[in-house]
Amino acid sequence: MKISELFYSIQGEGKRAGMPSFFIRTNYCNLRCMFKSGNLCDTSYTSWHPDDDKNLGETSIESISDKYREFLCKDIVITGGEPTMYADELLLLCKKLKKVNKDSFITIETNGTFIGEFINYTDLISLSPKLKSSVPFDTPQKKMHDKSRINLKVLRKYNSLYKAGKLNIQWKFVFTSGEDIKEIKSLQSEIRFKNENVFLMPEGVSEKDLKKTRPETVKACLENNYNYTDRLHILIWGNKRGV
Ligand code: SF4
Repeated sequence: MKISELFYSIQGEGKRAGMPSFFIRTNYCNLRCMFKSGNLCDTSYTSWHPDDDKNLGETSIESISDKYREFLCKDIVITGGEPTMYADELLLLCKKLKKVNKDSFITIETNGTFIGEFINYTDLISLSPKLKSSVPFDTPQKKMHDKSRINLKVLRKYNSLYKAGKLNIQWKFVFTSGEDIKEIKSLQSEIRFKNENVFLMPEGVSEKDLKKTRPETVKACLENNYNYTDRLHILIWGNKRGV
């Protein structure tokens, strides 16, 4: 699997925020997020710049699980980039990690554009569909990103598995303005996911950014009965690798 980094930190976002976790960050993404603030994706070294020489590169499932053995924490977070681009390898990886620790809690963080058999070996799918506010206007990637960012068929599939009791899910949206709420509501009327699983997260890659966007995000949560999540790792360490 193409890996960017492996590290031990705390989960900074969503339902499992604060949990000590082993992070497996895959390299490459099928999208290219850029926000109105001018911020790129906070892991642009996996999406815009996957050739960054600090990325680990091709890494065997055995090496990844050996690294996990050093920590053996309950929570394992497989994130990216976009990990579900490697659906077949992801299945093998999740199976292996469950063998190493059957009590582990595996979260997969995905933009929700792909699905695969790996879902049968995970404990939480953290879906983060990318809204119009993430489109990199004025770049050559604009068209590709806008066309690919929402895959309704895949999102419906995730939600139907949740409804059937086969999957634990959270919907985590980056919040930039009221326009995002309109789009979330529209997705919600198409897919019918529950408010109790929706988290709004302020857009930002620094403490200063988050301070600016947090009040509006909290207001939108209260007005729409959604949950709020901060970005603890950014508040603690800033936008750095390996945290
Ligand atoms: S989907 Fe995630 S990893 Fe990919 S470009 Fe957007 S924020 Fe970055």
